[in-house]
Amino acid sequence: MQSQAPKVYLVTYGCKVNYYESEAVQSNLNAMGIDCAMVSDGAISHLPDAQVFVLNSCAVTSMAEKKSRYGVSKIKRYHPQAQIVTMGCALGRKTPEMVALEVANCLANANYPQPAKLPANGAVVQHKREKAFIKVQDGCQNFCTYCIIPYLRNKIECRPIDDVVAEIRAQGPHVTSVVLCGINLCYYPNFGDLCRAVDACGIAWEISSFEPPMMTPELIKTLGQCAHFVPHFHICLQSGSDAVLRAMNRHYTTAQYAQIIANLRAEFPHAIFGTDLIVGFPTETEQCFAETVAFLKKIDFDTIHIFPYSPRTGTKAAALPQIQNSIVTKRYEDVKKLVKSEQ
Ligand code: SF4
Repeated sequence: MQSQAPKVYLVTYGCKVNYYESEAVQSNLNAMGIDCAMVSDGAISHLPDAQVFVLNSCAVTSMAEKKSRYGVSKIKRYHPQAQIVTMGCALGRKTPEMVALEVANCLANANYPQPAKLPANGAVVQHKREKAFIKVQDGCQNFCTYCIIPYLRNKIECRPIDDVVAEIRAQGPHVTSVVLCGINLCYYPNFGDLCRAVDACGIAWEISSFEPPMMTPELIKTLGQCAHFVPHFHICLQSGSDAVLRAMNRHYTTAQYAQIIANLRAEFPHAIFGTDLIVGFPTETEQCFAETVAFLKKIDFDTIHIFPYSPRTGTKAAALPQIQNSIVTKRYEDVKKLVKSEQ
């Protein structure tokens, strides 16, 4: 029997919510006396003493899912003795507490010292980064026709304001700002109240990516009154064509989107704007794509995260006739030329 618990390595793919959940796993393991380090998938081949890996997977695109599965193969190749615990959208949804228990069982089975019991209700998440992602919401039932997420994270959950505030206040001085994140923040029932409570913590804060309908004039006014709010907005557009937006089951028009941006620019003249965009959606004609390009020029985003459309089995759009890959790639390249920076 070894005198010291071995290191657990945690590899994370995907969005801010996944990173948050990985940090929650780490906090739970630390509270049980288990050493755990976050590593990138690029580091997997260089880790000498790996015993247990936790792999937090992503399924938002088929490429993301492939990468997650490849991560598992890579661990098996470089660390054939290591045990692997998977979690996340592509490889099984589990709470951070469930994952921590699974890891503890792996260690116990491998004859390592039995760790302390899991803390009741999980441990307060202790963030290591200066800019901490704080998950405030989970789940989406919007069923955008290209998106697999509502099939994987259907349960809507919103954390109570007190809970979020307690987590922010429990961080050490190394955390200098926080980012509120969720799968679809539109579901948060009293987001303005949450913003005021977070602002009262006295730390710089911002909102992670969100859906346009969330940004009502009332919320913009509330944000304008928040002294510590950082006006970096990432508002998911997905297409600059109204016909494509309808086919995607997005609940706004380009005119409404442009109005939201105008309202935000009026309140925050120095704001930074970013967005997500899908090119090559099945019903995107040349005309629709031209409209998208024109709309991007009109809004003049600071950052654009471009996704070439790829079908996700089980979604409505996957059953439609698909656009040739070469056209999708060309549209991707065309948009890339337009943007100031791609995240
Ligand atoms: S709003 Fe649409 S894109 Fe976002 S998670 Fe929900 S279904 Fe997916």
